[in-house]
Parts: sequence; structure tokens; C-alpha cells
Amino acid sequence: MIEAGSKPSDFIREIIKEDLANNKYGARVHTRFPPEPNGYLHIGHAKSICLNFGIAAEFGGLCNLRFDDTNPTKEEIEYVESIKEDVRWLGFDWGDRLYYASDYFEQLYQYAVQLIKKGKAYVCDLSPQEIREYRGTLTEAGRHSPYRNRSVEENLDLFERMRAGEFEDGSRTLRAKIDMTSGNINMRDPVIYRILHATHHRTGDKWYIYPMYDFAHCFSDSIEKITHSICTLEFEDHRPLYDWFLDELGIYHPQQIEFARLNLSHTVLSKRKLIELVEAGYVNGWDDPRMPTIAGLRRRGYTPESIRNFCERIGIAKRDSMVDIALLEYYIREDLNKHAQRVMAVLHPLRVVIDNYPEGIVEDLEAINNPENPGMGTRNVPFSRVIYIEREDFREDPPKQFYRLAPGREVRLRYAYFIKCVGVIKDAQTGEVVELHCTYDPETRGGDSPDRRKVKATLHWVSATHALEAEVRLYDHLFIKADPNNTEEGRSLKDYLNPNSLEILKLCRIEPSLSGAAPGSRYQFERQGYFCVNPDSSDGSLVFNRTVTLRDTWAKIEKAQK
Ligand code: ATP
Ligand code: MG
Repeated sequence: MIEAGSKPSDFIREIIKEDLANNKYGARVHTRFPPEPNGYLHIGHAKSICLNFGIAAEFGGLCNLRFDDTNPTKEEIEYVESIKEDVRWLGFDWGDRLYYASDYFEQLYQYAVQLIKKGKAYVCDLSPQEIREYRGTLTEAGRHSPYRNRSVEENLDLFERMRAGEFEDGSRTLRAKIDMTSGNINMRDPVIYRILHATHHRTGDKWYIYPMYDFAHCFSDSIEKITHSICTLEFEDHRPLYDWFLDELGIYHPQQIEFARLNLSHTVLSKRKLIELVEAGYVNGWDDPRMPTIAGLRRRGYTPESIRNFCERIGIAKRDSMVDIALLEYYIREDLNKHAQRVMAVLHPLRVVIDNYPEGIVEDLEAINNPENPGMGTRNVPFSRVIYIEREDFREDPPKQFYRLAPGREVRLRYAYFIKCVGVIKDAQTGEVVELHCTYDPETRGGDSPDRRKVKATLHWVSATHALEAEVRLYDHLFIKADPNNTEEGRSLKDYLNPNSLEILKLCRIEPSLSGAAPGSRYQFERQGYFCVNPDSSDGSLVFNRTVTLRDTWAKIEKAQK
């Protein structure tokens, strides 16, 4: 539903509008983004970030950033820092509302004590394995733990001693006393505290017990006076538990609302799987430009705006679906088409000598920086007797529809002249074409002939003596399979990795205006695609990352394979 002049709406925004109209929560809107700091954020998280921060901005509300740091064994400060950086880079601001679930550990402990006092929680001595066995299945009710009817006094005493570190990991848990026959397995006396002798990144060795996600999450929302607690669909079955905890204690109660998580083709969006790729060395770290992480996309050359536009376009739904990665690519192309300067770069250089062009002369030819955006102006590119063109722009025996350079054929050099191929020099041993000889028509300066003679192709080029050398990294999809999560019998994720996801080209030749290009800056290499300067590129050794090709060549390749 799109109203004129407003952002598109969705079922969550409709719920919020209704709540505002009914003055629920005192007409406030307060959301939060609650990452667990156990990995880098990915494009799926961007969807959640855009939703939570976006809703707060649209309805004059607030959005908190809260680290859900209840599992000390998997969490690291590196992840906390990367998450903050990525949320900011995407363009969102949590103001002074940066919170950690671990800040609430004392309060959470007190809530647990209150539940025990109400007879709604008990210390259980079953092992994790036994707890699973007692839990039952979807078709079979669970059984009561033999420890379920401990007295309040005994529970209080044991829970306090759990906190004091008296017991071994796994020897006891605190469980909510709900209903072992519930059709919802989450309600069958879920564990709410476990013993873990582990050092936490913020609370150090203060705690020997840690709250489980469901317990910590609803109370964190409540403590922060969140109004709408937006999460992904897999938590739908946890909502009764979310509500149960808050209702039992009779405290402030946010509304949990679930939406479908983003699934993107040709990649995986699960931190566990992304960690696997990093640790096994299939990629060069979390910010490898092939990774669907925010850090990877940034290194790849994506702009925050393109990611936000993508997230807005895919919208919010209640049913899981898979979005084609081509849609994400569409949004970065659209953005860069308007904003990136166009330059000429030759990735596979072939030397061309223009026999009738005077030696020692250099002409500065005017080139347009972006025809979509005249305000970006023009620049000069040097032209001289020896140039490089793209190897694939020449064919000795041109097939039928090949209109580019060939022996005896004339083409246009962008912003320069018409040239005609008059000689081909080959390596005596290999037969490989190593140099072309051409003549130019001085009357065609700027790219048009006074006699209106037509050529069918326009090639990009660089002047050999002026060009800069650069390394260019061509990136492609990380996985060949559209849905690598869907593994066939006997196969694993790594069997679907695209062996050609990275191709490194050395000795590419780039026009000299890119000398000193700032790391991170973005360009269109004419006829090639969009590229950005790699963050650790330096003037002496320029490195470019291909963000995306000009058109969707992938679709063509796939079609050809079928
Ligand atoms: P992962 O499965 O990648 O580990 P997670 O849900 O465990 O993801 P959290 O750090 O707990 O990761 O997620 C923080 C927030 O981002 C949660 O509200 C979660 O629902 C949301 N989120 C995570 N993945 C996606 C996704 N693919 N699409 C939309 N939202 C997501
Ligand atoms: Mg999680």
C-alpha cells in the first residue's frame, strides 16, 4: 500500500498507526535493534536495522541499539565494535541509547528470584540430555522433572549457590514452571538460567550463571520501555513465553511482532555459516568483498544508500521468501550510475601503435565525467601514439556479430579518433597477438567524421606512457547454487562455493586521472562495470574491487549453461 508522498506501508507500520491512534503505550513508539555480538552484521541485519530505526524516525520515536550479550562463550569485543561501526555507516544513530543485556544481569537475577518466590521457577538437577528426554516431542507430552516440586526455600538456596559458583557447568539449571503438556514445546518448563564458568566480555568473572535468550530478551525490552519488539518469524512460537514472563511478574509489557527474515540468493545469511567460511579460509575474513556482511559490501563498494533502498524495496512480509541477489545489484548500479565518475581502464591490455600519429605529441582530449549528471563536469585524458585497448575488443577472424576492431576495420576510440587496423604482430612461438598497428584519421578528432562515415563500435583505451598500472579484483557470487542452504544428500555448503568468485588481474592500465584516488572512492570503468578503490590500496600500488558489472552478465551465463 503506497500513499502519495509517503513511504510504503506494511503490516507492522499499520499496527503501529493503530496503536498510536488508540494511545497504546502513551502514543510512544520505541523500537530496538538487538544483535548478539557473535559475528559481523549481514544484509539480513540491515533489513532489521532499516525497519527498526526507520519506524522510529517515521513515527517520531526512538530506537535503541542493544547488545544481546548473554552468551559469554561466543561473544567478542571485535564484534561489538564492528556492529556499532556498521549501524552508523548505514546511516542510523542510537543517540545515547546504547545498551547491553549484560547491564541488566542483576535485575534479571532479581526477576528470577521473584518467579521462584511465586512458585513459578525451580532449580532442576537433570542433565541437559535428560532435560531433552523429559521434554517430549511434537506428538508426545513431556514428563515432569523429579525436581519440579522443590520448596521455594530450597530453590532460593540452590539458585543463590548457583550464582555463587558452587556447582559445575551443566549440573543444574533454573527452569520456569509452566506446562509440560503444552502443545508449544517452548512452554514445557524452559531453562531460564544455566551455569557457565566463563569470562564475559563486560562482566568479567562476576557471574557463574547466565540467563537464556528468551528470558533476557523480554525483560530487556521491558526495562527499556520498548513499545514494539520486532523480531523474525522463528520467534513466533516463543511469543507465548515472552508474554508469560512479563505477565507473571506484572511488569511493563511490550508487543512482540514477527516478520519474515531476508534470504538472499547465491549467499548465506547465518552468522554460524559465515563464521565457517571465515574460519575455513574460503574467504579473506568477515569483510571479504564476497561476503554478504555489511563490512564486505562496504569493501566491495556498496553505498549505504543503495542498501537502504534495497531494504525499502523488498518490504516487510509475514512469509519467508528468497530475494534474488540481482535485485541488490540493481540498487547499487542505480546509485552509482548517478554518482560515480566514468573513467577508462583497460583490464586485459593489448598494445596498439598508431603508425601515422606523430611521435612525441600528446593531446589532451576532453572526456565527460558522467553523462547522467552534467554537473560532474569534464576532465582531460592524454592521447598519444601508443595506446592500450582491451584484448577482447580485437578479433583476427571476427565472427558475424562482432563489430569491434579487426584487420582492415575501422572503429572509434572514445573521445579521440577513428582508427583502422592495418597490421597484426604475433608472438613467433605462441601465435598470440601481441601488438596491433593502426592508422588514425585526423579529421575525426572528438569521435565524429566530417563525411559522416559510420563505425559500429566505440572502444575505450588508455595512453601507454601515461597510464597507471593497477591490480583489479573481479568478484562474483560466492555460491554457484541459488540456495546453498538447501544442501543435497552427502553434500555440504562448501561444495557449492563458486570457484571463480575472485579473479585477480595484475598489470591493468588505468587513465592517469586516477592517480591519488582515495581509498573507497567509486568509479565506472567504461564498458566494464563499477569499481572502487580497495581500502588498503596506495598510490604506488593501486587496487580496485569490482562492485558490480554493468549489466547482469550472470543471468546470461546461467542461461547459456542450461
Ligand atoms: P543469524 O541467524 O545470522 O545468527 P540472528 O538472528 O541470530 O542471525 P541476531 O544478532 O540475534 O542474529 O539478530 C539481531 C536482529 O537481526 C534480530 O532482531 C534478528 O531477528 C534480525 N535478523 C537476523 N537475521 C535477519 C535476516 N536474515 N533478515 C531480517 N532480520 C534478521
Ligand atoms: Mg540470534
